[in-house]
Amino acid sequence: MQTRADPPRVVVIGGGFGGLSAARALRKVRAHVTLVDRRNYHVFQPLLYQVATAGLSPGDIASPIRWVLRRQPRLKVLLGEVRSVDTSARLVQLADGEPLAYDYLIVAAGAIDSYFGHDEWRRVAPGLKTLEDGLEIRRRVLLAFERAERAADAETQRRLLTFVVIGGGPTGVELAGALAEIARHTLAHEYRSVNTRAARIVLLEGGPDVLAAFPAPLRAAAARDLARLGVEVRTGVLVTHVGAGLVEAGAERFEAGTVLWAAGVAASPLGRTLGAPVDRTGRVLVRPGLSIPDHPEVFVIGDLAAFVTARRDDGRPVLLPGVAQVAMQEAVHAVRTIERAMAGKPSEPFRYRDYGNLATIGRASAIADFGWLRLTGWPAWVAWLFIHIMKLTGFRNRVLVLVQWAWAYFTYQRSVRLITGTAASRDVMGD
Ligand SMILES: Cc1cc2nc3c(=O)[nH]c(=O)nc-3n(C[C@H](O)[C@H](O)[C@H](O)COP(=O)(O)OP(=O)(O)OC[C@H]3O[C@@H](n4cnc5c(N)ncnc54)[C@H](O)[C@@H]3O)c2cc1C
Repeated sequence: MQTRADPPRVVVIGGGFGGLSAARALRKVRAHVTLVDRRNYHVFQPLLYQVATAGLSPGDIASPIRWVLRRQPRLKVLLGEVRSVDTSARLVQLADGEPLAYDYLIVAAGAIDSYFGHDEWRRVAPGLKTLEDGLEIRRRVLLAFERAERAADAETQRRLLTFVVIGGGPTGVELAGALAEIARHTLAHEYRSVNTRAARIVLLEGGPDVLAAFPAPLRAAAARDLARLGVEVRTGVLVTHVGAGLVEAGAERFEAGTVLWAAGVAASPLGRTLGAPVDRTGRVLVRPGLSIPDHPEVFVIGDLAAFVTARRDDGRPVLLPGVAQVAMQEAVHAVRTIERAMAGKPSEPFRYRDYGNLATIGRASAIADFGWLRLTGWPAWVAWLFIHIMKLTGFRNRVLVLVQWAWAYFTYQRSVRLITGTAASRDVMGD
């Protein structure tokens, strides 16, 4: 039973960018803090594509949450799946075990892949959100080359060496660029029956441009770099069918052994259990201070939150993007608001400070938009590399990643070309 003198109980759901930043910011707050996540590790999602393309190992980009927060004695880390939140009883319901009671709640459960109502496409075209996804993509990509080496006829070989990436945002571009490098450089001298350099990598984007969030000159630079790498970019095409070994986009058909999905995200289903209004993709429409209506003690942050910054002429809202910076800044604001509430002070509106936007395309190729400075090519790639390594969790990971990157840069090699996992995939590759 809590008494008035007891420090408040703060529960944080999620140990991703938002949840971890909130937990860290709570270090100096006099509160009992519990962080709950369904996984025991934090993943640095911006480098997931490197796991998917055999450049890095899972352990290089993930750290145990318990270890990351080990210096916070008042903070408890729990491994558990949150099923729902009962905001009127102030209880977090777990899939198993007793509910967690809270005085303040920070929900940072992130996003999942969305297949726009075609969940049957998921089996053929995995997305990239988790380490498991990264390993599954790695397995399929490496298997495609192995199967092509053994294929009986040129047509099967051609299909197995065709990779279609759906979605021209940062993740789709990173994947397509890395696949092109693997085919043209990393594997170029290792197969005897197939010419891996002839692999076809197709990037499909529904909008008019890839990397739509960047200014036009940077988008154009990215398109040039993709073309240089030999990636076929098709814009303005909407995918209408994804089946075993086949993608249809309008009138076009692509026979492809490997199809990857980087086209859509939806909010974690947990958002809908809060009883607050949500947008089309399930993101929770938060108030200016990041809490939900009628519950100033419940904050939603990161990819799960829809924070409206402005309205377009047609009334549609402009939202903050689903990026790590937003989640981390929102986390700090939510904690500051809790501190203010504990001191009897009112909430203040959240203001996002945009420090810039980067995307990598391939070796020595990236684009960076810092507002006051725009970079392309090698300088942008160095900026991208430096910022990502600095932001990685844990000194060990930073050193490991830097060494592996340097090795890969000079040798064109990818050191983690291991085909692991047992799930059958012949049926999804169409051979
Ligand atoms: C492949 C990829 C590349 C990206 N690249 C970049 C980039 O270069 N730059 C950038 O700024 N952003 C990038 N992002 C976006 C960035 O990673 C997200 O915006 C950020 O992770 C959002 O933080 P979050 O805390 O809201 O969610 P997440 O970091 O996704 O964390 C959510 C956490 O909640 C846990 N969780 C979810 N549901 C439950 C549940 N029911 N019970 C218990 N735990 C649960 C999950 O296990 C996870 O640990 C990338 C994302 C992806 C997928």
